[in-house]
Amino acid sequence: MIVNVAKPMEELKNLLADYRRVFILGCGGCPLGCETGGPARLEELKAELTRADRSVSGTQMIDFLCNKALVGAQLRYQVPALKNSDAVLVVSCGVGVQATAAMIDLPSLPANNTLNSQGMQGLWPSVERCDGCGDCLLHLTGGICPITRCAKNLINGQCGGTHDGKCEVENTRDCAWHLIYEKLKALGKLDNLKKLPKLRDYRNWDVSDRERHTTRWALEEDQLYQAPKAVGKQ
Ligand code: SF4
Ligand code: SF4
Repeated sequence: MIVNVAKPMEELKNLLADYRRVFILGCGGCPLGCETGGPARLEELKAELTRADRSVSGTQMIDFLCNKALVGAQLRYQVPALKNSDAVLVVSCGVGVQATAAMIDLPSLPANNTLNSQGMQGLWPSVERCDGCGDCLLHLTGGICPITRCAKNLINGQCGGTHDGKCEVENTRDCAWHLIYEKLKALGKLDNLKKLPKLRDYRNWDVSDRERHTTRWALEEDQLYQAPKAVGKQ
């Protein structure tokens, strides 16, 4: 499971500051297990955003947002609502936000932060990857993750080595920051480049105290749920 936690509501309101009409898209996979998604959270977000003077143009749950084909097929039924939206708030891990951004021409904004679980997180085969940095900034980068797509994991812009849109580290690979620039230009959001963080805060990398106090964390630690150890061994 890809572990993700809800971004604080104040942060969500800030990242939605430029968008009045919002479509809310939820993933029915990992966020359900993490208690950070599902129909109840979508309803909660809808109510909060309505109170914050946003118009919610629609909501939808899709089983696995990391499956681009599924996202594309399902969102075809939502074209009228999406045409009536300025942005899509995506309640999923970073891969789901990136997969959504790849399939639609609206800004896709993360409602959750994805945590690093220091190991295999799934079998997603495509270019959208999430490194679980704990402070998702896909809302600033056109839904393209700079940490996993840039060879130097740069979060504050191009290194200066790109040539013809390719990366200086490997010239068969697209430069992430070239892709981000082109995507932001197409979305009319080039001003996002001025809002990028200067430094990465590695304190977000670890599992926070808040997460360590969830029911899910407590269950993992509870002796009652531990597998019997070495049964029959002396
Ligand atoms: S910025 Fe990238 S690594 Fe960080 S949570 Fe978002 S998708 Fe994952
Ligand atoms: S050329 Fe682009 S992708 Fe490659 S390291 Fe520099 S900024 Fe990152």
